[in-house]
Amino acid sequence: MKVYLRNGDQLVLDGGAKCSDAAAAISEGLARSAVAAKVNGVLCDLSHKLAEGDKVEIVTLKDKEGLEVYRHTCAHVLAQAVKTIFPTCKLAIGPVIENGFYYDFDFNTPITQEDFEKIEAEMQKIIKANTPIERFELPRKEAVELMSKFKEKYKVELINDLPEDAVISFYKQGSFTDLCRGPHLPSTGKIKAFKLTSIAGAYWRGNEKNKMLTRIYGVAFAKKDEMQAYFDMLEEAKKRDHIKLGKELKLFALLNEGKGFPFFLPNGMVLKNILTQYWRDLHRKEGYVEIQTPIILTRSLWETSGHWDHYKENMYTTKIDGEDCAIKPMN
Ligand SMILES: [Zn+2]
Repeated sequence: MKVYLRNGDQLVLDGGAKCSDAAAAISEGLARSAVAAKVNGVLCDLSHKLAEGDKVEIVTLKDKEGLEVYRHTCAHVLAQAVKTIFPTCKLAIGPVIENGFYYDFDFNTPITQEDFEKIEAEMQKIIKANTPIERFELPRKEAVELMSKFKEKYKVELINDLPEDAVISFYKQGSFTDLCRGPHLPSTGKIKAFKLTSIAGAYWRGNEKNKMLTRIYGVAFAKKDEMQAYFDMLEEAKKRDHIKLGKELKLFALLNEGKGFPFFLPNGMVLKNILTQYWRDLHRKEGYVEIQTPIILTRSLWETSGHWDHYKENMYTTKIDGEDCAIKPMN
């Protein structure tokens, strides 16, 4: 059968070939670095079966989507590790976030960051075992039965809320199965660098009327040195924290009399004036002229601008000579 690559090239494959076969047919290196594929624009597993005429793109960790698949797989490894150590805990959701992932759990007995070492060690075991990650689909009734059997009440709720025509898919790695849309890495061994970073409370479905769950955050990177660079960057950012620098360089003071409002000190004013001069020079060079408008203006102006109808609750209002006025919301 014939499939097409992003550049329009044709690739001839055996009938029933998978995305991984397409990667291997392109190059050995690509087969090694492939983590997922895009078929006709839809992100899917490398095990996805191709059809005649499909448009295929191989996704690696150099792609943003590839890293997301990688990080989300880390969330599944975290869930498996936590379930192994705390078999009575219930699973909620585990999405990807910037630089990493999180997973929400419902623990019988609360855990703390002290438990991270144990959980990370279990995750390393799962990664070392290099277990294949397999996708399967179930009809709604059987999907609910499976999750009920595992006593995963949050998953049952998620399945029940899926639209009528939704494809209900699961991902299985060894003895662990999770309800998931996917895609995922082909096996757990592809994960090279991760670290659990923090723990927080989070309401089920973000609703304060629901139960408070435990959210475990982690980061994951394609390589160990990339993860180290990330932690180094965080350390450097801490050194440059504006509150710390403002104090050390005597730029501004934060006082109880104006919470969140800086009181500029002489050094701060020198810096502020230099920056303002630079800003002014740039504008003048580009042909702009300056004006200045009042800080407090009447209600009719804010009605014209739309602020009054849309943002009134976030504006500071006052009455001047009996007339409604408001402080400029952005200056
Ligand atoms: Zn998943």
